[in-house]
Amino acid sequence: MKTRVTLAACLLALAAQAEETKEPVEVLRQRLADRLSTKAEGTATAKPATKAGKPTKAVAAKPVHWGYTGDLGPEHWAELTPENKLCAVGTRQSPIDIRDGLSVELEKISFDYRTSSFSVQDNGHTIQVNVAAGNGLTVMGRRYELVQFHFHRPSEERVNGKQSDMVAHLVHKDAQGRLAVVAVLLERGPDNKPQPVIQAVWANLPLEKGEALAAQTQIDLNQLLPADQGYYTYMGSLTTPPCSEGVLWMVLRQPVALTAQQLGIFAKLYPMNARPLQAGSGRLIKESQ
Ligand SMILES: [Zn+2]
Repeated sequence: MKTRVTLAACLLALAAQAEETKEPVEVLRQRLADRLSTKAEGTATAKPATKAGKPTKAVAAKPVHWGYTGDLGPEHWAELTPENKLCAVGTRQSPIDIRDGLSVELEKISFDYRTSSFSVQDNGHTIQVNVAAGNGLTVMGRRYELVQFHFHRPSEERVNGKQSDMVAHLVHKDAQGRLAVVAVLLERGPDNKPQPVIQAVWANLPLEKGEALAAQTQIDLNQLLPADQGYYTYMGSLTTPPCSEGVLWMVLRQPVALTAQQLGIFAKLYPMNARPLQAGSGRLIKESQ
């Protein structure tokens, strides 16, 4: 039954798409076949069989059922499915405007990043980079493994009201499934200094949505971190459906520079993929001295 519902939803979405683009029925049929076969692959590879040294196998992207504008936009996420309820009623939601933080002696984030293979995927909402196992961080005595990182334009978080050109979210998970996200703010810098990690990721952008493209080169995420690793921290949520809470956010204070060309490439793919600000609701924010 569930498959039938998903299929119907798929068909509806495809029909709507076809209506928009005036695609002939054959094309529609072919696209459905493609989508179904991708789905089967996704199911087959979804088992947690991550071998060290190889990029995490990406699960095939689901059909787009939410977005950033119109009827599928952030104001409607909770209406799209009951699983998204927290997007509307949660009181620990992200992003927020970071201000009035308590300036304290915050423990340094101990990054354990290493040169790794990676794959790049356009999941329909952003560009996502899946990195080989073995990268992680330790904070407050807890080790979190890096799962993936992705981008938003403009930055979702604001600091004292100020938005950055872009942000990279590095998503980590501990053994109990708790999430910790490190946000690296990205801002325009000199045009003769391309950011090396971004350069490698953009060079490996896949031509098609959904499928992850395994890069033939490696990246070192230490190169994506700013020199000053002071940060703001608060408890929040995923900024995309289902908006799950209990996420430890660590927003690095010092932005990292991208060239205008590097910013321009992402802007072409995703001109706006930032969730609006959410209420602070009296949450505590701490920041490094
Ligand atoms: Zn994000």
